[in-house]
Parts: sequence; C-alpha cells; structure tokens
Amino acid sequence: MSDTNIIMAPAEELDLEQTTQRREMSWFSFLSNDIGIDLGTANTLIYVRGASIVLNEPSVVALEKETGKILAVGISAKEMIGRTPDSISAIRPLKDGVIADFDITETMLSYFIKRVIKHRYLMKPRIIISVPSGITEVEKRAVRDSAENAGAREVFLIPEPMAAAIGVGLPVDQPSGSMVIDIGGGTSEIAVIALNDIVSNTSIRVAGDELDEAIILYYKKNYNLLIGERTAEEIKLKIGSAYPLDKEESMEIKGRDLVAGVPKTMEVTSSQIREAIAEPVDAIIDGVRLSLEQTAPELASDILERGIILTGGGALLHGLDKRLRQETNLPVIVADDPLTCVARGTGKCLENMQQYSKVLLKSRRN
Ligand code: ADP
Ligand code: MG
Repeated sequence: MSDTNIIMAPAEELDLEQTTQRREMSWFSFLSNDIGIDLGTANTLIYVRGASIVLNEPSVVALEKETGKILAVGISAKEMIGRTPDSISAIRPLKDGVIADFDITETMLSYFIKRVIKHRYLMKPRIIISVPSGITEVEKRAVRDSAENAGAREVFLIPEPMAAAIGVGLPVDQPSGSMVIDIGGGTSEIAVIALNDIVSNTSIRVAGDELDEAIILYYKKNYNLLIGERTAEEIKLKIGSAYPLDKEESMEIKGRDLVAGVPKTMEVTSSQIREAIAEPVDAIIDGVRLSLEQTAPELASDILERGIILTGGGALLHGLDKRLRQETNLPVIVADDPLTCVARGTGKCLENMQQYSKVLLKSRRN
C-alpha cells in the first residue's frame, strides 16, 4: 500500500447532482444522506446535508476495562469522567490533538454516524471529515478507514482551519489572506488562508485542556485542594478570563483537601483563575506572534485590514480577544457561534461540493 493515498480530487469527480436547489436537494438527501463531521478533540459535531447540525456531543467513550465493552458514548460518557469506578474508564480518544486511540475513535465515529443515519437510504453517504492540519498520513488513513467502516461511500478530508474559515464565511478562494485561530480542546491552530490553500499553519498543543490542567495545578499547589477535570472546566467556563474583567467574579467550588483528606468547599475568584491560566494563555499568544512574524508582508497587510478571526470553544474565553488585540495591535473578531464553525464549514462544502472541490482532499484506498 502506498503512503500517498490522500490525493486531491479532480473537480469533475466532485461534480455531482446539481444540488443547489432546495427541492432537488431534499430528493437527493432521500437517496443519500451525505454528512459533514467535525471530529474534534473535545466535541464531535455532525451536519446532515439539506438539514443542519444534528449531533453535537463530547468526544468521549466509556469502556468496561476488562472486556473493552462500550458502556456509553458522548454526553453520558462525559458525565462519567472522574466518577468512574476502577472497572470503568472514560476515554477521550483524540485527547492530545491527534488520534491517541484508533480503535476507540473508530467505535465512537461509527456510533455517531449510525445515530444520524437512521433510515435506510438507497446510497451510502459521502462523508466530509475535518482533520487537524498537521495530521500524519497514517492518521488520515485511520480517519478514512473509520468512516468507511461506519458505512461511508466516499470520504473527503478537509483541514480544520479551512473548514473553520468556510464556516465563518471568509472568502477562502480570494488572493487576499485571512488569519483564523481555532482554539479547541487539544490544539490551537493558527492558519493563514488564501487562494483555497493554507499558506501557513502553526499548530500548538496548548488549548482548552491545558487551561483546565493549569487550574487543577494552581489549586493543588497553592491551596492543597484537589479538584477534578470537569470542575476545572466548569470554573473556566464560568469565571475564566484572559484580560482583567470590569467586575471580577467568584464562585464556590468543591474538591478534596489534600492534607485532611476530606471534601472541602472553597470560594475561588476570577483573578485567581487568570493567574492560574496565564502560562497556557501566553503560550497561545506566543504562537500567534510567531505565526504573524512568519507571514509574508502582503498577507500581513491583508490581516491588518481584515483582522484575526477566533473560532473553536477557546474563542469564548472572556477577554481573549481583548488580550490578543492588545498584544498584536490587530483587529480581533470572535466568530459567531465559534463552537460550530468547523461543522458549518463542512456543511457548506457538502451543499456546494463543486465550488469547494479545491479544498477537499479525497481519501481513497490504494
Ligand atoms: P475541539 O474542536 O478540540 O473538539 P471545541 O472547539 O469544541 O474543541 O472547544 C472545546 C474547548 O473549548 C474545551 O476545552 C472547552 O472547555 C472550551 N470552551 C467551551 N466554551 C468555553 C467558554 N465559554 N470559555 C472558555 N472555554 C470554553
Ligand atoms: Mg475543533
């Protein structure tokens, strides 16, 4: 088997059933239920052609350790994180921005796909899946195999930052450059896009998960308080920030006192959290600076004009846009509904396969 089994699809291969009209579209979606998937490290979203986003669940699988039997997938599996008895493990198969566990990723993907394809269609679906732009050939093959095993007729891959840019509505086919920063769970992708291509891409393994870990570490070190992953995330969502707030906030949290060994309640403040996550936030900002330094002057001036677009769940961190604006002197815009940009981008590609043929990578078995 050759290693180069991911090839650009010739435009004519993508030229299909003139799906531009709604009426025709619903007819074709009766024949084949094509779907777009944002296979994220934190969340998986599925867009069904002719419909919209029909599934949005955490990328988590709960397994019985001894037998490997799947106990839960998605929301119910995420609820088990940190609460599982020794015999059960709740796994995030894409935890560090790459596919950490191929088999479990495949199981999860086919579970989600089967859930959205309830009816028996005449044709198997075509599937567009977004993948981190730095993904290896082996990982691409694993994603494609998973989708095929889950019943795909054809699989197309699209780099995540490209899908995010399309989802946001940026003119990706134009010669002028756009910068998109997608901050997910496992990775932050900083990409400059022009002429249907990713001109430069910086992918760093510092994103939402690192912020949660930094919060856990902070309370352990400074207050001898052990908190779980999910509590740390809740704190971040509620009072986390990257820039001083007009009105600082606080909340009550529960953890385990490491000295007394008993459960304990504590009041935490937004300024503590800002201090706790300062290091990973700085790392993301350094990544953006590095990427800007490496951007060609013409593209840099496009970015100066158009600004930086923030997508992914991390874009919702309070004041991150303000902080980036301060550090780069560039306009920074948080995309509308940043958690769904990538999925909406795969959806736009499904609805207009011909228009977007240049950004899709056709993955095929050699
Ligand atoms: P992925 O693409 O890797 O699945 P997502 O784009 O779905 O990631 O973003 C998930 C990350 O965004 C998680 O780390 C989550 O904690 C974080 N997140 C979601 N909402 C917020 C918020 N309001 N503030 C800060 N972080 C958030
Ligand atoms: Mg993502």
